[in-house]
Order: sequence, then structure tokens, then C-alpha cells
Amino acid sequence: MATGLLYKKRMVVSIIFIIIFAQPNKREMNKFLTIAKAWGIAVFHTDEQKELADKRSAVCSTCPSLQEVDVKNMTGGLVNNYFLCGSCGCPLQGKIYTPIDTPKEQKCPLDKWEN
Ligand code: SF4
Repeated sequence: MATGLLYKKRMVVSIIFIIIFAQPNKREMNKFLTIAKAWGIAVFHTDEQKELADKRSAVCSTCPSLQEVDVKNMTGGLVNNYFLCGSCGCPLQGKIYTPIDTPKEQKCPLDKWEN
């Protein structure tokens, strides 16, 4: 559980560094901001946001694009249950918390989520 939180925090820090140093264009910047918001919500979410994420996760769990990958934590241990969306490459731990008001094209790339 603590490892999951550590990964979420690392992802948020990584996104901040990308925004600062990669100098993305407006479209890329919007995408980065959506990702940053999603990871923020993944760490600090309401019950409603968790419920929506659980519904999305259930959809993803039956999707052929779902990929389980081996990821190591900072101490070299293997992180269990680390999944990516094979269609967009995003880690699902954060992606399922994409804000509900996000444009459709930044949510499920196969448009399988209800919202
Ligand atoms: S986000 Fe969409 S395409 Fe990606 S794994 Fe989930 S359901 Fe499949």
C-alpha cells in the first residue's frame, strides 16, 4: 500500500519535471496537466471519484489493451499489480482518476468508459 502511494508521488514529481524542462506545446501541456490532475486525484480523492475510478478499473480489467508490467520500486523490489493501458501507455493507477470533465480524447483511447 505504501509502495503504491510512493509511486503516485513519484509520478506527480516526474510530471512536474516534464512540464518544467521539456517545454511542451499547448496541446502537450493540456495533456500533462490532465495527467497531473489525475495523479493528484489518485492520491487525494473523494468517495465519488474513487467510485468512478473503480468503475473505470472494472472496464479496464476486461479490456484486451490492458497490460501488466514489471516495475521495480526505489528499493529494487517488484511492484505487484502494476498495469498500463496498452493503447496510450498510461499507468492505470493514475489514468482511472482522470477528471470527469476532461475532454473525451484524453480519457479511454478506445472510448470504453461511460464517463
Ligand atoms: S483505458 Fe480504455 S483502452 Fe485503456 S485499458 Fe482501459 S478500457 Fe482499455
